[in-house]
Amino acid sequence: MAFFWRRNKDQDKFSTSVLGLDKSIEELQAQEAAVEREIGVRFNKAIEKTRHSINNRLDSVFENRKKIDEAFLDELEELLISTDIGVATTMQILEAVRRGVSRQEINDLDALKKAMKNELLGILHTSENKGVASETEVSDAIKPYVLMVVGVNGVGKTTTIGKLAQRIKTEGNDVLICAADTFRAAASDQLEIWADRAGVPIVQQKQGTDPAAVLFDALKSAKARNADVLIVDTAGRLHNKANLMAELEKMKRIAGREVEGAPHETLLVIDAVTGQNGLEQARQFLKTANVTGIVLTKLDGTAKGGIAVAISKELNLPIRYIGVGEQVNDLMVFDAEQYVNGLFN
Ligand code: GDP
Ligand code: MG
Repeated sequence: MAFFWRRNKDQDKFSTSVLGLDKSIEELQAQEAAVEREIGVRFNKAIEKTRHSINNRLDSVFENRKKIDEAFLDELEELLISTDIGVATTMQILEAVRRGVSRQEINDLDALKKAMKNELLGILHTSENKGVASETEVSDAIKPYVLMVVGVNGVGKTTTIGKLAQRIKTEGNDVLICAADTFRAAASDQLEIWADRAGVPIVQQKQGTDPAAVLFDALKSAKARNADVLIVDTAGRLHNKANLMAELEKMKRIAGREVEGAPHETLLVIDAVTGQNGLEQARQFLKTANVTGIVLTKLDGTAKGGIAVAISKELNLPIRYIGVGEQVNDLMVFDAEQYVNGLFN
């Protein structure tokens, strides 16, 4: 069963309360299989547009050809670039395909897909090792676990926080949300709606308050409540970029001063629909924000889902979660195998 986030200590609590120890092994297995299936179906739906775009074109490129020649490789290159997979990845794949062809290992479409999948998996797995915490365990000693969420306006930070708060709470943790996007009045209101929905407390102040001051309050409150996790929303825009980066820097400093090692995780949210542009914007956060992982949102809204690979390769950071819709359950743990299979099958 795919868990989102869970502390060691909560494993028992979680399995008794949610899975139900009163159930037989068979019942539990059936339940797990049903959940896996449901996740698979929803993921495949989210990646559908990208899959269709790749497969339809692959079929037509492959049609009426007796062998894989340079003209074919040119068309393949164009196809890959069109999925926003990135130039570097495209070159790497073409190289692998050339190698396979010259060794006579690639003669048909299936072998071609298999070779491409292998290259993509290699890239995704390499970046997976660069992240911090794994989905399944966070040490008990870290409390509150401070999770900062950064990224430009409109990418889906607030929505992602709402979804995450709900999941992390469901998994048996006490969650607190900090509304440190004080730049827009609507930001805090929107976050409050998500917090209410998830039944999670929120620390907020009036518009224009120094975000670092709101964070300071939230850190104090998290400690006083003995909260397990503090999730921090941040502004995607201030009066100018230098300002924003300075503010994030200050927030990081304050978090580290109040809680050892905080922020423990900084998730950079990227909107899949914005493709290569989004990737470029994201780079600006890497310098200042000490990003430890990526959330790729709106994968359901694009046929250019190859951007996930470009992100892992070019930012060299793991994609931790993907957003596949606007509802609270539309956040999934990113799974490289599932993703790559979803692109081609
Ligand atoms: P923020 O400015 O970064 O906080 O972005 P918001 O969380 O306010 O989201 C901006 C818009 O994107 C909202 O309309 C969200 O409903 C929408 N959104 C966020 N995540 C997803 C997603 O995974 N899929 C889709 N289709 N829409 C999303
Ligand atoms: Mg927001």
